[in-house]
Amino acid sequence: MRILPAPSGTGIVFQRVDLDRFEIEAISRNVARVSYATSLMKKGVLISTTEHLLSAFIGLGIDNAIVELDNLELPILDGSAQPFVEMIRKAGIRKQRRPRKYLKIRREVEMREGNKFIAVYPADSYSVSYSINFPHPLIGKETFQVQLSNGSYLRHIAPARTFGSRQDEQAMRNMGLIRGASSENCIVLTRDGIENGPLRFSDEFVRHKVLDLVGDLALLGKQILGKVVADRAGHAMHTALVSRILRDKTLWEEVTVSSEETAREVVSSVQAAAGSAF
Ligand SMILES: [Zn+2]
Repeated sequence: MRILPAPSGTGIVFQRVDLDRFEIEAISRNVARVSYATSLMKKGVLISTTEHLLSAFIGLGIDNAIVELDNLELPILDGSAQPFVEMIRKAGIRKQRRPRKYLKIRREVEMREGNKFIAVYPADSYSVSYSINFPHPLIGKETFQVQLSNGSYLRHIAPARTFGSRQDEQAMRNMGLIRGASSENCIVLTRDGIENGPLRFSDEFVRHKVLDLVGDLALLGKQILGKVVADRAGHAMHTALVSRILRDKTLWEEVTVSSEETAREVVSSVQAAAGSAF
């Protein structure tokens, strides 16, 4: 994977360099089958596991970038957004001239599915409140609230790693999933603890759910101004919220916050080597 600078108005665009630079824009219209991870598909061409990189872009305020891939899957690295944040910071971030356009929520949207819930409410900034309830002695009910500005994302969310349990492993492998999963790229839960401690935060699990949510909501194509509340949601509900918002133009408006809030791009190209989770 290689990240390249891109002019204002580009948004985030993936390029399959192994397929004649076929382009897939990181927008809701291209969302494919969503279960264990978020994938994009256009004309039968797939890009898998976009959420951690897109989350890093939102956290760093990168609006425009070309992401080259020579494979259908993004590198999983350590299972968090931290390595992406570091590589982008190393390349440098440049302000562009054009003011950044935000998607400002005007009316609330609430979606329920069994005991899962996701909603977004009008607000002047982007915040997330996420709750999970996972039957494991180290997790149980966890809630994490964060204002995604002032460096909070970088400190509290980016380092949180994905997780999976030893007990579910064989069933998932039988479905052809997590073929590359290892203790290097996720927290491995055992029946009553974790195999590869220590945790980076005692509530790392719910923080990773926030990371995923931010990455999935990036498919709105713009930074959001609104308060997002989620309870036991997942990729499918995150992306369902995105398409629900985009379908109804009375729910939001496009705004610029101030003339100083311009779009941003990376300064030079940076690359990460592959490491596969799937
Ligand atoms: Zn994730």
